[in-house]
Amino acid sequence: MALPDYDCLTCSACCHQREGTILVTEEDVAHWASVGRQDMIDSLGEGHFGERAFLMREEDGACVHLGLPGKPHHCQVYDVRARVCRDFQAGSQQCREFRRERGIPNP
Ligand code: SF4
Ligand code: SF4
Repeated sequence: MALPDYDCLTCSACCHQREGTILVTEEDVAHWASVGRQDMIDSLGEGHFGERAFLMREEDGACVHLGLPGKPHHCQVYDVRARVCRDFQAGSQQCREFRRERGIPNP
């Protein structure tokens, strides 16, 4: 649940990461398979620690699933995003660090 002062839809700092660091789990993969989202599985790359991860775009360092027409901070796969995306807490220390790194002021 996003805190009111942290507007994720004007931010998306946590969706801009180094390649291989937004890791997905076997549970994510099993879920995507069960709901017919083979495209999610096919779009994964190698992650750190021998796991799989979302690929990052070269041009802007964002997750390949970030951005809709006219809505650059929206997730294209919000309903089936990975567990790590669901669990990430707006307003957490890591959120605040990611925002600071991208020059987005913290409340
Ligand atoms: S870095 Fe924090 S405020 Fe920005 S999109 Fe992620 S959770 Fe939301
Ligand atoms: S799947 Fe969506 S929420 Fe998760 S990192 Fe990619 S764009 Fe962000």
